Amino acid sequence: MKSILITGGASGIGAGIAERFSEAGYAIAVFDRNAAGADEMARRLKKSGGPAISIHGDVSEPADAERAVAQTITAFGSLDVLVNNAGIEIVGTVASLSVEDWDRLLGVNLRGAFLLSKFAIPRMKPGSSVVNISSVHAFASYADNAAYDSSKAGLLGLTRAMALDHGPSGIRVNAVCPGYIQTPMLDKWLDSVPDREGTMREVLRSHPLGRIGTPRDIAEAVFFLCSDAASFVNGTFLVVDGAMTVSGK
Ligand code: NAD
Repeated sequence: MKSILITGGASGIGAGIAERFSEAGYAIAVFDRNAAGADEMARRLKKSGGPAISIHGDVSEPADAERAVAQTITAFGSLDVLVNNAGIEIVGTVASLSVEDWDRLLGVNLRGAFLLSKFAIPRMKPGSSVVNISSVHAFASYADNAAYDSSKAGLLGLTRAMALDHGPSGIRVNAVCPGYIQTPMLDKWLDSVPDREGTMREVLRSHPLGRIGTPRDIAEAVFFLCSDAASFVNGTFLVVDGAMTVSGK
């Protein structure tokens, strides 16, 4: 049985990825700083028949990252897929962001992916794969997102570097760039804007398909990238945004 370690697996996109891979027969390690959420997710997955464990910790802490990899391998015997999904958003320009907020955001979104990969890669066998959850913010900037945009662009650089360095060991590394996806993170952002309904109408207008994405939409892309169908896909990114960015709105 193959296993997958998903950071931020207790909520939103991470939870969608956990469900998709569990349905496909993977053993799931849900790693999240939200301990109760991770436990609940693992319990739900086990109830539907698949092996699952929850691991509590912070992706930006080296000891937690190392322990997450070790616990996954102890529980399931191998680590076949790592998904660096945990992320936070803190709005602000370079002028308004505090140094602490910049460090905190980069610590989770970019350093976290580095740390998990650092401890996972040496223990992964040929045929394994890593997927980094970046964002359309990696190449399409939005006002007030200096730290978030930088972290997501940085993840694409990390993806390319890892693909080059670890391809010779048979490990593929790719990224997914989601657009607007219905998750608690999106809800939190909508709560912070002055006109929630008006903003949502505008968001929908920028989507040619007339809807925003679901965690399942992203999970399917991640699943493809980790599958044998993508065995020659390496060092690149898949935009999953319903053509929102090509609409130019
Ligand atoms: P979410 O807030 O619903 O879930 C994020 C999860 O990560 C939570 O369970 C949270 O507890 C966990 N987490 C946060 N910081 C952590 C840390 N330091 N250590 C361990 N766990 C931590 O968010 P989401 O919308 O599902 O986002 C998941 C990823 O997708 C993020 O990287 C986000 O930037 C990216 N993304 C989201 C959207 C969107 O529209 N929702 C769009 C593009 C990219």
